[in-house]
Amino acid sequence: MKENDTIAAISTAVGESGVSIIKLSGDQAKSIVSKIFMLKNNKSFMDQKPWTMAYGHINNFKQETIDEVIVSFFKGPKSFTAEDVVEINCHGGRVPAEMVLNQVFLAGARPAEPGEFTKRAFLNGRIDLSQAEAVIDIIQSKTELSMKTALANSEGKLSKEVREIRNRILNLLAFIEVTVDFPEEDLEFTTGSEVSLKLEILIKELKQLLKTAEEGKILREGLSIAIVGKPNVGKSSLLNALLNENRAIVTDIPGTTRDIIEEYLNIEGIPIRITDTAGIRETDDIVEKLGVDRSKSKIQEADLIIFVLDRSRPLDQEDKDIITFIENRKSITLLNKTDLEERLNIDRKLLGENIEVSAINGFGMEELKRKIKELFFRGSIEVSDLMVTNRRHKEALMRALEKLILAKNAIDQGISLDLAAIDLNASWNYFGEITGDTLSEDLVEKIFSDFCIGK
Ligand code: GDP
Repeated sequence: MKENDTIAAISTAVGESGVSIIKLSGDQAKSIVSKIFMLKNNKSFMDQKPWTMAYGHINNFKQETIDEVIVSFFKGPKSFTAEDVVEINCHGGRVPAEMVLNQVFLAGARPAEPGEFTKRAFLNGRIDLSQAEAVIDIIQSKTELSMKTALANSEGKLSKEVREIRNRILNLLAFIEVTVDFPEEDLEFTTGSEVSLKLEILIKELKQLLKTAEEGKILREGLSIAIVGKPNVGKSSLLNALLNENRAIVTDIPGTTRDIIEEYLNIEGIPIRITDTAGIRETDDIVEKLGVDRSKSKIQEADLIIFVLDRSRPLDQEDKDIITFIENRKSITLLNKTDLEERLNIDRKLLGENIEVSAINGFGMEELKRKIKELFFRGSIEVSDLMVTNRRHKEALMRALEKLILAKNAIDQGISLDLAAIDLNASWNYFGEITGDTLSEDLVEKIFSDFCIGK
């Protein structure tokens, strides 16, 4: 499936930096670079040994020096793409990298599309689709913990499990086929009960695997939290206390957090996207109304709501309206300003999960973090465990599970084994979508188009 043209792109981030790397992949990678690369020792780059580096200059076709570089050569299939790969390390910064890349194009490479290097690794069979997707998750990971899970999946943790399950389904299908070829009532019955038993185990395992998806999604995408509360209860102060630095503007005038402020937090490895909302009270002010609408939609989208009450003041209608608005949502209520005298007249039991805090002096922040973790993660997070982090994988697993259940029901209800085989086959296909074995070309294209250029 090797594509024969040679692609090139800048693989490092654009901007001032120590080095920039221009990566080439394809049959012509070495010969293209040898046209523009003058080695310090005057040897030809064509004679460069694999997995070594050479020092010299990139020249243009007028033999003028463009930049001083170090070039490495990885011979396929032992390379990222499983093709010949050449990497030019030039000076960091936009201009040197683009000038060198330009020479590479003039010498015969074509610009790589987003994710094309990883796509080639997939098309050449070095990695499967879920591993390729995990590569992008590593790049985009938000905390060390997210990165660890992504790395485990890029190394094939999930793929291995999926391949094993597919094999088991294939064995069941073969077993059914043999029985159907010798149609005796008794045989069909014994085969049926045996397959049913095996399916029961498989279904149980799959349910267990799917349970990791909620935590996995949070590790990959982050947990979204919306802070709500009427003006002046201490929402911005709380955000600051959590961030440990003053990014949100704190003021005494009610209603000044007009727009949405979003920040990232890292609570023991859990990436958290936290939003300080502008409040939700009815207003005639057009600008404020827009803020209120945005706040409401942020609250709807959030995984968790932190509702802040000012403990030094009695509950009022505005507090009550918020309580009604967030009813039935996963939430934690903070009774803020514990350093002041209490005037809040509410039965704590009516508030659900609640914590006394003081955003000003940091009291209760540790308990808040612990509660957040408790609500979404069962105990300690073990990244060595297999974890489903990707929404696409989760959906494929759910569909695969559904088909397994249908197959088992068909067998248990004595409907023919042939029909169960159809469901098993469908399930086998859904599992294959995860590794990319049974996914249509368009969908594969789409997945890689979300990658960055140069990866
Ligand atoms: P927001 O409008 O809900 O974002 O509230 P702010 O964070 O801007 O806080 C409003 C006022 O309450 C500010 O003067 C804060 O200094 C004060 N404040 C916030 N938290 C506390 C607290 O725990 N104790 C005391 N005494 N004041 C607080």
